[in-house]
Amino acid sequence: MDIHALAAMSRNRPVYCWGAGRYGVMAMDALRRHGVGITGFIDKTIRSSRDDTNKILAPEAIDSPADGFVVVTSMFFEHEIESALLAKGYTNERDYVLYSNLKRWSFEIDVSGICQLKCPTCPNGNFTGRKLSQTMMSFALYCQILDKLITEVDFLPDVQLYSWGEPLLNPSLPDIVAYSADQGVAVGISSNLNDIRHLERTVQAKPDWFRVSLSGTGNQYSLTHRGGNWDKVASNMEQLARLRDLHHPEMIIEVNYHLYRNNEKNLDEIAAICERNGFLLKPNAAYIDPLDTLIDYAEGKPLPDSMLEIAQSLILDIDAVIQDCRLSSSDSCVRENTIVIHSDGTIRQCPHVFGSQYKLEKNILSSSISEIDRLFLARDLCARCKSLGMNNFYAHFLSHTKLES
Ligand code: SF4
Repeated sequence: MDIHALAAMSRNRPVYCWGAGRYGVMAMDALRRHGVGITGFIDKTIRSSRDDTNKILAPEAIDSPADGFVVVTSMFFEHEIESALLAKGYTNERDYVLYSNLKRWSFEIDVSGICQLKCPTCPNGNFTGRKLSQTMMSFALYCQILDKLITEVDFLPDVQLYSWGEPLLNPSLPDIVAYSADQGVAVGISSNLNDIRHLERTVQAKPDWFRVSLSGTGNQYSLTHRGGNWDKVASNMEQLARLRDLHHPEMIIEVNYHLYRNNEKNLDEIAAICERNGFLLKPNAAYIDPLDTLIDYAEGKPLPDSMLEIAQSLILDIDAVIQDCRLSSSDSCVRENTIVIHSDGTIRQCPHVFGSQYKLEKNILSSSISEIDRLFLARDLCARCKSLGMNNFYAHFLSHTKLES
């Protein structure tokens, strides 16, 4: 559904955003810019991050679709809220819409093309071909890109400030976060949290959510987060919680725990850290990138040595997954409408590829979004990927994800 259809559908009905955190407030601002008046919020915890927000109702205040149209504006609890709406007799795209369905495009802006770690499942650690350039995005370039997106994209409530680089290495990150907030665009960060020189200023700039990527504790951690130091990360997580409490209590912090065959035993330790600090814990089966190498492998080329050993440590056997993909190919892909903007402004053809041959000819500043749309529709890479069913490769791993707290 596009934003104009939503505006028409919700006309003359009360409209509620379910999810009153900063994410919901940012979505409300974006909806209002498009003429969708918001009556209020619904939220289980009855709180909001801004004083001038409308009334906040408890979920029990909404009994049926007659009570109002709902826009689900919680990123982390979208499915839970959708289940509650269905139980109240709501119908998708008639009485409610999911935030994730409202966005025609998702944007991932890799503000740092550099990472100090060399994780074996990440292209920054394992890729042997010709890579995209490894640079740091300047604040000026980021502002130009965001301004362009705001002008051209119908509904731009949020952008993700990372792809495979480490955003906290970019000294301009605090300015980038603050500029985004000034423009009414919510932002999320993911970090390995090994280097926190710019952390305090970043939290002060108020990002909407902050993800910490982990895979084990002690020596185990540095096998899969290669080059990282667990003691430092454990201490930095406590510091992150302190800075959140001090500067930005509404910031959602999520620990993304990558499960391998040999690190499930460390999960209780991570769960205790999360509980103590008020972090969400999201364990999920680790998978391997980049997709260009996996497609080559599915087509019969050998896996490079840099990926062979780690492939044995994954919870799922990649040969079995590739075989399943081949047998159950489909045309849809959840990543097709994600535009990844590399740190130098170039655009990758797919969020999961890393080879420099898979960037678009034009960069984000020299092509319009509708031009990118046309180029994306003609991607040979996607046709090749779908013919092997590899567009479903990651779904096999993500279906192992479970939210613990
Ligand atoms: S079809 Fe394959 S190559 Fe295309 S966006 Fe999806 S995962 Fe990437």
